[in-house]
Amino acid sequence: MNTEKSHAKELDQQDELNSFRKEFYLGNDTIYFDGNSLGLLSRRAEQSVLSLMASWKEHAIDGWTEGTHPWYYVSEKLGKLSAPLIGAEADEVIVTGSTTTNLHQLAATFFNPEGKRTKILADELNFPSDIYAIKSQLELKGLDPDEHLVQVKSKNGNTLETTDIVAAMTEDIALIILPSVLYRSGQLLDIQTLTKEAHQRGIMIGFDLCHSIGSIPHHLSEWGVDFAFWCTYKHLNGGPGSVGGLYVNRRHFGKRPGLAGWFSSAKDKQFDMEHTLSPADTAGAYQIGTPHVLSIAPLIGSLEMFQEAGIDRIRDKSIRLTGYLMDLIKSELSSYGFTIANPEDETTRGGHVFLIHPEAARICKALKAAGVVPDFRNPNGIRLAPVALYNTFEEVWEMVSRLKEIMDEKTYKNYANKRGVIA
Ligand SMILES: *Cc1c(COP(=O)(O)O)cnc(C)c1O
Repeated sequence: MNTEKSHAKELDQQDELNSFRKEFYLGNDTIYFDGNSLGLLSRRAEQSVLSLMASWKEHAIDGWTEGTHPWYYVSEKLGKLSAPLIGAEADEVIVTGSTTTNLHQLAATFFNPEGKRTKILADELNFPSDIYAIKSQLELKGLDPDEHLVQVKSKNGNTLETTDIVAAMTEDIALIILPSVLYRSGQLLDIQTLTKEAHQRGIMIGFDLCHSIGSIPHHLSEWGVDFAFWCTYKHLNGGPGSVGGLYVNRRHFGKRPGLAGWFSSAKDKQFDMEHTLSPADTAGAYQIGTPHVLSIAPLIGSLEMFQEAGIDRIRDKSIRLTGYLMDLIKSELSSYGFTIANPEDETTRGGHVFLIHPEAARICKALKAAGVVPDFRNPNGIRLAPVALYNTFEEVWEMVSRLKEIMDEKTYKNYANKRGVIA
């Protein structure tokens, strides 16, 4: 491979998405590779926050129906903007809640243990919050999680095999909940095959898209996925605590929400204030209460950028960025004890590279001191996410060169090999 810095610069010049970078607040002299934990603020997201603040200032209560982005319709409007990112129709998507609360809503709605089918199938590598939510949903139905939660095992501690997941789709499983991309190793699961296999066995299946939405295209409607849910502060750059999203396949429209609230209502019925709920006949039915308008606001500007960039072009650049990063690691860092633990194949590789190293915690601290923001994952993982909308090939080159210096000069030994509060 060409390891010259000038080559990285050439790749940047040829990059069709390079104009988006200047729309972000990049930080002085920092190389930010943590966009899969918290995406950066863009000027457009900032503007849309200011615009919703202005409509509050100007219209007060009438902001629900007036102003540039009337609050009463904003969740649906952003659902429509999110739909192309996951291959859904506009009314199958709603921006609401958070990953965890949306999972609660969808499990409360679609987990209906009956007869022999009383179990939920998940995996042992998923993010803890999903597992806590699933266990509490089982408990709410009077089922013991030790017996009714089945977690597919990983053979190597990093990735899952489709055949193992399919083998666990036994006739006592009522519902399957899996991540699209595993948060540590970045493995992209085969959503289409898993959905087909689940349905052949009469099992419903839903996916957590936290680490894929905004980075990888999906065709959820075409694949027939039953439901999905996600956060918007990672690749979608919605800001800390921005409102999440959910998808419900239209063949389930009309299914009553497990957790109802007045925002589950059909929009024209909601203000009739009746004590009998008339749910929306769209994914909007799975909202609960008043939308968190100020935490939705940044998404208006941010999702507009995704619409302009197009998710296929984003994925294409992301694949090239992570490919370039892995090539450089193999060529420049092969003698320092790093293991590339993400799948390398393009069909199973997500949006980040996952390195394993026994000194990972303090290597991350040394990287931060050297102006690179990685993401440490206990106990020995370093996640590096070069993001298509704002990172460059030159930054990838620069990051590898700084890491090489840290390893050569052993400056990581100046730090304790222990995690901080967050990462
Ligand atoms: C980020 C993430 C979450 C976080 O859930 P919140 O409800 O937004 O706090 C949950 N699950 C996965 C897989 C994640 O990556």
